Amino acid sequence: MNQFQYVRPTKQKAAIDALAKDANAQIIAGGTNLIDLMKRGVMAPQKLVDINKLPLNKIERDGSNTRIGALALNGVVAEDKLVLEKHPLLAQALNAGASAQLRNMATVGGNMLQRTRCHYFYDTALPCNKREPGSGCGALEGFNRMHAIFGFSDKCIAVHPSDMSVALVALDATVLVSGPKGDRRIPFIDFHRLPGDTPQKDTNLEPGELITAVDIPDAPFTKNVHYLKVRERASYAFALVSVAAALNIENNTIKDARLAMGGVAHKPWRLTEAEKSLVGKPATEETFRQAAEVAMRGAKAFKYNQYKLKLAPNSIVQALKTAAAVA
Ligand code: SF4
Repeated sequence: MNQFQYVRPTKQKAAIDALAKDANAQIIAGGTNLIDLMKRGVMAPQKLVDINKLPLNKIERDGSNTRIGALALNGVVAEDKLVLEKHPLLAQALNAGASAQLRNMATVGGNMLQRTRCHYFYDTALPCNKREPGSGCGALEGFNRMHAIFGFSDKCIAVHPSDMSVALVALDATVLVSGPKGDRRIPFIDFHRLPGDTPQKDTNLEPGELITAVDIPDAPFTKNVHYLKVRERASYAFALVSVAAALNIENNTIKDARLAMGGVAHKPWRLTEAEKSLVGKPATEETFRQAAEVAMRGAKAFKYNQYKLKLAPNSIVQALKTAAAVA
């Protein structure tokens, strides 16, 4: 591991100043991904800004939103009474992620900022445009079993690994950030980026900006929700495909729907057209199959991830059936 400077500010402004002063500074909170990346030489920050002393771990009401601080631990959020009552889909997604030990270290902000688990990204002997821009993409013609079927580019076909973020994009969350130019709010759907020509950039955070919280608006998605994660082993693995499904059903008619997928794109993949196709229809398997067809428009697989073209629509149908409690 390279030598680095370590600072532990107690004020938000000092943290932002410390970040803004050094282009190669990184925030550290739980460290569940960053420390691994540093040990393997994938990331080599010159400065770590430890934000654990900042008062950013509250879970509270703010008007018609639930506000979750960036430093709230994944395990704590998943068991929080307010979250379980108002946003059970988020609790399900959090509990599907990582292991209990990791959930008790990882923070909400860190979960959003975790890097892809593409093997080529982690192996510094292999080309990777995300790790080293311009070096090529080892996965494009390589072993791309875990990779994207939507929104990829010829520079990068990696997927975003977070489960929590799939639920948050489905629930229309907003990210609150603070930086050298002040505070701003970023709709969750715009927080993560597609790779395009700059796969090294995972998010739309500006230099020096710090995530302070996430707001989740109240919505009638408290009963018919389900987070389905398909993975290679049940105990602890990243999603091959995951689906966050939330339905508002009245008299067996779908009044409103939210749908997003994980494990299929460089960002949590919101399925807006499929959601629209569900509204006004009866909550039946037939309706869900039609929505899955809409959701899969434009999907394209690589040599080793062809199976996702079948797994993804089947997972959508299964998640919607479970959410709607359709046998
Ligand atoms: Fe790197 Fe992205 Fe290619 Fe993986 S898919 S090797 S992360 S550029």
